[in-house]
Amino acid sequence: MNVRDLDELVAAAKRETLARGETFYPGPSRIHLAAFPPRERWDDWAAVEPDGAVRRYALVPTTCFNCESACGLLAYVDRETLQVRKFEGNPEHPGSRGRNCAKGPATLNQVTDPDRILYPLRRAGERGEGRWQRVSWDEALDEIAARIRQALDEGRPNAVMYHVGRPGEDGFAERVLAAWGVDGHNSHTNICSSGGRAGYHWWMGLDRPSPDHANADVILLVSAHLESGHYFNPHAQRIVEAKQRGAKLIVLDTRLSNTATHADHWLSPVPGSEAAILLAIANELIRTRRYDREFVRRWWNWQQYLACEHPERPQTFAEFERVLAELYAEYTFALAERESGISAEVLRDVAELVASAGTRLATHVWRSAAAGNLGGWQVARTLFLLNALLGAVATPGGTYPNAWNKFVPRPIYLPGHPPQWNELTWPQEYPLAMNELSFLLPHLLRDGRGALDVYFTRVYNPVWTNPDGFAWIEALTDESLVGLHVALTPTWSETAFFADYVLPMGHGSERHDLHSYEQYDGQWIGFRQPVLRAARERLGEPVRDTRVVNPGEVWEENEFWIELSWRIDPDGSRGIRRYFESSERPGEKLSVDEYYGWIFERSVPGLPERAAAEGLTPLEWMRRYGAFELARGIGPLHEQEVPAAELEDVAVSELGRVYTRTPKPDSPNVVPLPTPEPDAEGRRPVGVEVDGRILRGWPTPSGRLEFYSRTLAEWGWPEAAVPTYLRSHVHPDELEPDQLVLIATFRLPVQIHTRSANAKWLDEIAHTNPLWLHPRDAARIGVRSGDLVRVETEIGHFVVKAWVTEGIRPGVAACSHHMGRWKPEGESGGQRQAMATVALGREGSGWRLQRRAGVTPFGSTDPDTRRIWWTDVGVHQNLAFPVHPDPVSGMHCWHQAVRVRRAAPGDAYGDVAVDTGRSREVYRRWLERARPAREVSPDGTRRPYWLLRPLKPAREAYRLPDAEVR
Ligand code: SF4
Repeated sequence: MNVRDLDELVAAAKRETLARGETFYPGPSRIHLAAFPPRERWDDWAAVEPDGAVRRYALVPTTCFNCESACGLLAYVDRETLQVRKFEGNPEHPGSRGRNCAKGPATLNQVTDPDRILYPLRRAGERGEGRWQRVSWDEALDEIAARIRQALDEGRPNAVMYHVGRPGEDGFAERVLAAWGVDGHNSHTNICSSGGRAGYHWWMGLDRPSPDHANADVILLVSAHLESGHYFNPHAQRIVEAKQRGAKLIVLDTRLSNTATHADHWLSPVPGSEAAILLAIANELIRTRRYDREFVRRWWNWQQYLACEHPERPQTFAEFERVLAELYAEYTFALAERESGISAEVLRDVAELVASAGTRLATHVWRSAAAGNLGGWQVARTLFLLNALLGAVATPGGTYPNAWNKFVPRPIYLPGHPPQWNELTWPQEYPLAMNELSFLLPHLLRDGRGALDVYFTRVYNPVWTNPDGFAWIEALTDESLVGLHVALTPTWSETAFFADYVLPMGHGSERHDLHSYEQYDGQWIGFRQPVLRAARERLGEPVRDTRVVNPGEVWEENEFWIELSWRIDPDGSRGIRRYFESSERPGEKLSVDEYYGWIFERSVPGLPERAAAEGLTPLEWMRRYGAFELARGIGPLHEQEVPAAELEDVAVSELGRVYTRTPKPDSPNVVPLPTPEPDAEGRRPVGVEVDGRILRGWPTPSGRLEFYSRTLAEWGWPEAAVPTYLRSHVHPDELEPDQLVLIATFRLPVQIHTRSANAKWLDEIAHTNPLWLHPRDAARIGVRSGDLVRVETEIGHFVVKAWVTEGIRPGVAACSHHMGRWKPEGESGGQRQAMATVALGREGSGWRLQRRAGVTPFGSTDPDTRRIWWTDVGVHQNLAFPVHPDPVSGMHCWHQAVRVRRAAPGDAYGDVAVDTGRSREVYRRWLERARPAREVSPDGTRRPYWLLRPLKPAREAYRLPDAEVR
């Protein structure tokens, strides 16, 4: 069949489908054979199953919970048994457009996992002893609520902390904490993305990019983004579309990832040299004057830069261009070659390609080099410099700020800011950190900076995910540091083993959340929902509590937090309960139906009309289709003129920042934005004057793109205030001759950090993590693929198998962080298909973990568990890493300088040994790199107020105690 025949077939199928009044989804086959069921028939869809049986389904949408992309899923709910039989893609979801990666459909494995936690559990012995007893939700809620209430009543709000791994709904938990008056939000972001975020934040005031891959001519990725990473399925499909159109793909990744195999140019740099490469490209654009001079003149804060850094020179754009050329002249291709090991000719070719993109350059870094290196945040800053030079910012095919392609609807209640500051999450040493110093928590507790009375871990597994996991075990088993540990989790984890309560939470098809992510130049919201509840409601059976339809007593968090908040403040006298009461029925609990009904009715423009056209309420519409696109083609919001109605008593600063007294107009979109400071008269910044017009500009202090960050300069980092190259802690000059750099951050595309030990399809595909070694290094060490090697870090070692490959640079080793799950001997919980059984014991001033058994087949409710053929589940390397907090971004710098040797006699696969005494020393050493607020703060505060913070305390809480102001 030729393409023309195919096109005719597609056209005919489309005509027939539309003639029946049904939705036409072309589907991957293009001839409608593999198309999606038309949405008009989602109530009753008949499908022939592989066994020949015809089954009738109700198709119910939700969103996937297995990474941050929030792709749409369609649950196939058997109308006869009312059970989910499979998950496929939701064609109505604007981000994922019906497609998923392997992890989406594997939600079914998680739901039916024979080892899942079905009931609330309380520890029966010592913490970590592995004995559990079933308790009722009431018992758990009452004890937890009483402890929180007592902490609040006794003026110890900082003793309550919520520590999140995979976030649910944007801002939901933050609002719960704000309602309690607690500055207790802690996240995983500083082991994940705060390096990348920091680089973007200093430029735009916003902490993420939104590359318009589909319309780009050149795509530059500093990541393995086609296979993993932020929004990878929605982005990957758009990158592939662009490539089909002829766009070129450049990938900087030291490792030959699956993504690199799809690149037109794969660059494998020395780890940590990425910013030098990007600056050499920038220098070439500047030197040959192939940058968008108008864009730079209008939108960079070059005037502020000249005024602050070169007041003696003429304050003109022409002079700035001279300074710019001088500033980057040293970044030659020869310098980049020396730093990166990539030849100057290759770099020149890549620079030519970048220059040819013009405004159609889409770029992205997330984790990767930004998360690996000391100063990694400058990788994001130098990458965005290329966009900013080419004017490829908020253009078709360029890179947008995330907030413009994201919609977070206003909720029914917005509690105020907590009145105090929590030093356990935002220690003074890191005034510019993008997020909480979460991975330092055990050390901060041991420093005596506070203690926790109630500590929630929520879909978070710091013992396994964070560096220095044994320090976490030490803290979690010390009841004077952590009074009550409550693990809110859908699956067993290494951290849950050290909890007092393990409370079962729902998977992506068992809970409510709202999501919106920047995946193209548009705005959408997706609705995660308990699909069995929605299915029953379609059949006319109202469901008031998710536990009625979920397996066992699995709950969803929204209902849990509402119930817990009521119990903390039973009579409403503490001012907490009012945020969790029905507005329609005062004195009654807020229901999730009212909560989401309120949002969809009042806060999502266009949704009520769309729903009414089908005779549905907005909530019914979202329950039926799962996602709604609010807008497409957002365009350059910074160029929008500020309406005259917003301009009252205007003042314009010397540098063109425009301030007004007009109150901020109410917007249904409450996407978190920074809060640039008012002027001396208290007017709020509203825009920026550009060529005589008042335009919206950027949410930075200057209102422009901040090539020069005055904040960085004033808060102790003048040498890093413009995009520059900072030498990594694993720079070749920092290494001993026999040391390699270990890249420990890459994902396996089919694994979900810490939550796929319950997904049999994924575990069968990928269940180990050998150490990638270049043949030259392998020959030097004397090992071949499959041999055991000992990898020695600053604080200990782990023993793993070697995999010899030319897919890695000489001098570099790599090991995926996705494997190596374990459960201690004697632990009654755990995931038997992907957790090794280990002996965990003290040794000197540290710990030793030894594998006792790999996985084996076992009998269960799922016959497939008898067919498990693998025994290996990989090695837990993160335990052997000390903490490396970047002194600016706060990011944990993951790369390690290691020695790799043949395994010693007595070493066994999976062994991990760590000296936690030494890990304390490394913590203190890195602390010395910090420039604490008490030494650098220009205004007596702990942190620049304008910077984003997930849960912002009241302004007064920002003041340093008087005694500590320099
Ligand atoms: S990319 Fe895969 S894991 Fe992530 S949300 Fe989409 S389907 Fe789920």
